Amino acid sequence: AKEAGRNAYQFFRDEMNLHAQHQLRMSSALRRALERDEFELHYQPQVSGADGRIVGYEALLRWESGVLGRVPPAEFIPVAEATGLILPIGEWVLRTAFAQQARWREDGEDTPRLAINISALQFRHEGFVAKLEQLLAGAGADPARIELEITESALMQGGGDMVERLQRLRRIGFTLALDDFGTGYSSLAYLKRFPIERLKIDRSFVRDLPDDPEDCAIADATLSLARDLGMEVVAEGVETEAQRSYLTARGCHVLQGYLFGRPQPARVAFDGPGDEARM
Ligand code: C2E
Ligand code: CA
Ligand code: CA
Ligand code: CA
Repeated sequence: AKEAGRNAYQFFRDEMNLHAQHQLRMSSALRRALERDEFELHYQPQVSGADGRIVGYEALLRWESGVLGRVPPAEFIPVAEATGLILPIGEWVLRTAFAQQARWREDGEDTPRLAINISALQFRHEGFVAKLEQLLAGAGADPARIELEITESALMQGGGDMVERLQRLRRIGFTLALDDFGTGYSSLAYLKRFPIERLKIDRSFVRDLPDDPEDCAIADATLSLARDLGMEVVAEGVETEAQRSYLTARGCHVLQGYLFGRPQPARVAFDGPGDEARM
């Protein structure tokens, strides 16, 4: 038994080392990713629940590492957060997304809204609001057409001045969405005080609609809460016609998911095939 215990411990330690080594390799690769230009934003359409028209896009970060290959955001974002690298990487995301919005703004009046993910560390960072203002002015983007997605857990960790910080962002003109709604521990009292336009129902609650009674209850409750608070709801991860009709029948404002389009590079998401021929 003692021997088995030692083996289990040895196994555990090897696993820990492997995990630590992997994290270390990833953070050193991440450290060079910006200068090597290894990031790209992909854009996923968001459609109106009422008529299916595209009303916006969410910008989603992609990393093609020279040493590790393609690494999914669910793996590298936590490492970027833990090492603080999310600050320069997040700045690159903002810069790139603002430039995209500025191009739309030049092109026409009725431009889609562009949603950008903000990490907890970024949002809490001292100079965040000033940085946003500086990048916005540099790019010439329209803040009214930019939505900042802040996770429920980022807001809950945030401490006392969160409401004030959100209000500063609203005054600049950004719209705000609460991301991953339902996965954290939002106090409803808080929610009332947050100057937020949209709640994003997490994909985990959409996946088993309309068969799972619990998920139906969560979707229904989110929609009615949002209505009472004067907010809109975005449902993410909509993959089936049955999910779509369940959500639209209950007045869900915006839908996002593979049913409408996958995240795509800008040249694929926004341009017809005609340009490719010209390039
Ligand atoms: P999220 O903000 O909840 O983004 C939605 C995720 O669901 C994206 O995963 C998207 O590709 C995926 N998705 C959308 N529709 C469907 C669908 O119909 N079916 C399925 N199975 N999946 C769908 P992705 O792109 O892998 O991103 C994962 C997470 O990484 C994001 O979750 C977000 O938390 C984070 N992330 C991505 N880009 C950024 C970024 O620029 N900055 C920060 N801080 N985090 C980011
Ligand atoms: Ca998001
Ligand atoms: Ca989510
Ligand atoms: Ca094209």
